[in-house]
Parts: sequence; C-alpha cells; structure tokens
Amino acid sequence: MGKPTGFKEFERKAEAYREVTVRLGDYDEIFTGEHDVEQLQTQGARCMDCGVPFCQSDTGCPVDNLIPEWNDLIYTEQWRKALDRLHKTNNFPEFTGRVCPAPCEGACVLGINEPPVTIKNIEQAIVDRGFAEGWIKAEVPKFRSGKKVAVVGSGPAGLAAAAQLNRAGHSVTVYERADRIGGLLMYGIPNMKLGKDLVQRRVDLLHAEGVEFITNADVGGEGENAIDIKNLLKENGAVLLATGSTKARDMEVPGRDLKGIYPAMEFLTANTKSLLDSNLEDGRYISAKDKKVIVIGGGDTGTDCIGTAIRHGCTSIENFELMPQPAAERTEDNPWPLWPLIYRIDYGHQESAERFGRDPRDYCVLTKEFVGDAEGQLSGVKTVEVQWQKGDDGRWNMEEVAGSEKVWPADLIMLSMGFTGPEQYVSDALNLEYDERANYRAAYGQYKTSVEGVFAAGDCRRGQSLVVWGINEGREAAREIDKFLMGSSFLA
Ligand SMILES: Cc1cc2nc3c(=O)[nH]c(=O)nc-3n(C[C@H](O)[C@H](O)[C@H](O)COP(=O)(O)OP(=O)(O)OC[C@H]3O[C@@H](n4cnc5c(N)ncnc54)[C@H](O)[C@@H]3O)c2cc1C
Ligand code: SF4
Repeated sequence: MGKPTGFKEFERKAEAYREVTVRLGDYDEIFTGEHDVEQLQTQGARCMDCGVPFCQSDTGCPVDNLIPEWNDLIYTEQWRKALDRLHKTNNFPEFTGRVCPAPCEGACVLGINEPPVTIKNIEQAIVDRGFAEGWIKAEVPKFRSGKKVAVVGSGPAGLAAAAQLNRAGHSVTVYERADRIGGLLMYGIPNMKLGKDLVQRRVDLLHAEGVEFITNADVGGEGENAIDIKNLLKENGAVLLATGSTKARDMEVPGRDLKGIYPAMEFLTANTKSLLDSNLEDGRYISAKDKKVIVIGGGDTGTDCIGTAIRHGCTSIENFELMPQPAAERTEDNPWPLWPLIYRIDYGHQESAERFGRDPRDYCVLTKEFVGDAEGQLSGVKTVEVQWQKGDDGRWNMEEVAGSEKVWPADLIMLSMGFTGPEQYVSDALNLEYDERANYRAAYGQYKTSVEGVFAAGDCRRGQSLVVWGINEGREAAREIDKFLMGSSFLA
C-alpha cells in the first residue's frame, strides 16, 4: 500500500483535457499527452489497498485490472513493474485508459464518502510511459501449435482474442470487412477520444508478433470481397465471430426519408475515413458546416456526433434525450458500488457550452415527425415533451405533455439511438442460433455458439457495450478456443 494515510491527506485531482478553445481547432486527442507524475503518485497514494478491492472485480473493472497493485507501484516509482502488471490483465490499456467510462472508479471503496482514486488516468499514464520508454515490444511466441484460428471482426473483442490465441501459439488470421483494422476503435470512436495512430501502433505490434490481418474481407457477404464462412470453418480449427453490434436502431416517424437525416455511424465513419485518407480534403464525408444540427439520442455516440459537428462548423447544435436529466448524485436505488447513474458532462457538452453558450442536451423530448421542403430536403423536426411516471408494477411509463408540441429548425439530423444487434448474414449462412435479443447465442464465459467450432464474443454476443467488455470477452473466448483445440489452456 502506497501511503497508509494518503486517502485522508490528499484530494482527488483528475488530469485536465486540452483547453476547449484550442482543441476545437483540430481533431487531435482531447488529452494533453503529458502526465504530471507527482500528481499521479499522489493519486496512487490515495488508494486504500482494500481487503476486498471492488475496483478490480465485481461491479468494477471488467478485465479485473490489478488496480491496488499498480497504484502502489507507481507511488513507489516502479513504472516498469506497473506496466507488466497492467498487461497481465489488459491487452490494450492505451485504449481503455482513454475511452473507458471507468466502472472501477464507480466501485472504488474510497468513493463511498470521498471522490474515488483517478484509476483511469493512472492506467493511461502507465501505458503511455511504457510506449515512450520503448518497453512495449513485439513478443513473438516461442512455440507454434500447428492450429489455425480465424477471427471475424477486428474490434477490441477480435483483437484481444487474436493477441491471446497468438500468445498460445496458434496461427491467427483476422478478417475485417472495412479497409482499416480496429472496429469501432478505428471507425466509430473519433480521433478526439482515441488517436488512430495509437490503434495502428497496436495492430502493427500484433502483426509483428505473428497475427495476420486481411482487410476488405466481407465474411459471409456476396460482393467481390466476399469470403465464404463455411470454407473458413473447414480451413481452421475454430472460428471466432467478433462482428460487433452493427444494426443501428432507426426511427419510424413521418418524414424519415427526407434528405439530411443520417444514422450517427454513417456520419462518424465517413468523417474518420476522410480525415485519415485526405485530412478531409476529398470531401467524402457528411459536412455539418453552416448547418443547424440536431442529434437524436445521447450516450458516447451522441457526444461524438456533437464534437464532430462543432469541429465542422455547425451553426447550432441540439441533442434530444427521451429520458429525464439524471440526478447530480447517486439516488437511493443506485447505491455504491453500482455504476453511478448521474449527470455527467462529457467533452462534446463542454465544447457546445464554449461555442454556443449552453449544454446541448434537451431532456424528455420525443420526436414526432421530420418536416421538409418541396425538394424533399429536411427543414425541421416536430417534437413533444414527455413525462415519466412510475407505475404500480415499478415500471416507468411515458406520457406526452399536452400543448408542448414544438418545431425545431434543422438542416442535418443524426440518429444515435443505439444498436439492435449484429447483422445476420454471416450467422444465417451457418444456421447459428440467436438469443431473445437477436444476438448470437453463446453463454458468457463459454462463448460456444450452436455450431461446433464457432465461437462468438463482444458486442455481437452481449449487445452494444464497452471497449473493456470487448477485451474481456475476447480474452476469455481465446481461452475457451485454446481449450477446445488443445484440451487445456494456460490463458487467463
Ligand atoms: C460512436 C461510438 C462511440 C463509442 N465510444 C465508446 C467509448 O468511449 N468507450 C467505450 O468503452 N465504448 C465505446 N463505444 C462502444 C465500443 O466501441 C464497442 O462496445 C466495442 O467496440 C465493441 O467491440 P467489438 O469488438 O465487439 O465490435 P466492434 O468494435 O463493433 O468491431 C466489429 C468489427 O467487425 C467487423 N465485421 C462485421 N461483420 C463482418 C463481416 N461479415 N466480415 C468481416 N468483418 C466484419 C466490423 O466491420 C467491425 O470492424 C462506442 C461505440 C460507438 C458506436
Ligand atoms: S479498464 Fe476501465 S474499468 Fe478497468 S481499470 Fe481501466 S478504466 Fe477502470
């Protein structure tokens, strides 16, 4: 334990993002790229090294990061050891250290009556130092099993599985239908939150360790890039489906077919691709410049649309949320160590406040109809306010507020209402079973689908989730595949 009295002596101090006015002028990461070592050590000293560290298990970290251990190691300036401990449980801490919402901090015991330790900042600093010092190098396995595994999809689940299976000596090929590797780490989460050079750096390391990557490979598809899933199954000892939850939830209200309404992912993916291909000079993206923009739906995706639209130079931004504004503090039915369902201000909200003088979120707003002009171009959206009442059965019921109808002017609307599951052309070709939410059916911890030799992990199995859960499932699925191929496994 760092400093036994640290939790009483020191206050939480999180690392600040870059100045809003500066970062709005580019698409670089919101992080400063610098870590104040003394501040981080002080945060490490606040860790109480609890007998039962909720941060690293239970409702805390999904990959069971050994948090109290590395808090102590950075307090005593043993950064190299801290990095080794971090890599024991997490293949990609440079991703989670940036984009994870940090359920660990929600479960930190100090968080019961004080602000929690800045665990996520410490994680990011450890891995950034590891890369800066040249400690992170390709580790080629000394032994090859002679077994082959195909991984379909290159998001965090597919990449974590590939890393682990390669470590176990298997020959792994990752098939990705996009033109770049990384799944939503590459095309989804924008540069501001996760630099694409960092994603590529990790992909290059995996390649140097022996993992093969094939891009523009549409497994189960029909076009010129199609790859037959049944052949993959014949040619490999096992196939892991890590295809993500890619079917966007749509909004069936009048006017949906007007020009100017896009699924959020179309907007975000095109922006990142154009940025990487040509620094936005090819014009192959949906521009929000000089437009009145509305984002329908919140969460990470909604925030990313807000941040991107502001950088394009939109003239206004609104963000509709169907639910009421969350409470500032935990409510009685949301106690520690559960994930705190509280009001949070993310980077896009800060940026809207700077550019337009207000948080863009409008709560309890239900979209009724999109309106347009004679050319079929979107010009606005009709909404109504709603209120939520808890019924006798404990369920929340929504009611429209009479007389609260409103028309909002809009030139561009992004739909960010979540995802309804994986596309099914790969799985249909295999006659795979689905669960009640239309995800690939495979039990958590086992990952076996209804077809022998086919496994599933990540958002395609659990539904839309988080990068850290993708890493958790990819690692565990690799262990199960290793057992399937070899009879036993040393993988964690
Ligand atoms: C805009 C956005 C922002 C987000 N922000 C955050 C965040 O800040 N923090 C966080 O923790 N989580 C965030 N998430 C969620 C997180 O990105 C996902 O939970 C995570 O990436 C899921 O990982 P995965 O590997 O299961 O799937 P994905 O990352 O979705 O990867 C699946 C891959 O499979 C490929 N694929 C699909 N079908 C085929 C096929 N037939 N053949 C070949 N390839 C195929 C897809 O092209 C894709 O590249 C965000 C999600 C979105 C959409
Ligand atoms: S991966 Fe997420 S939950 Fe785990 S320690 Fe890092 S920030 Fe916390």
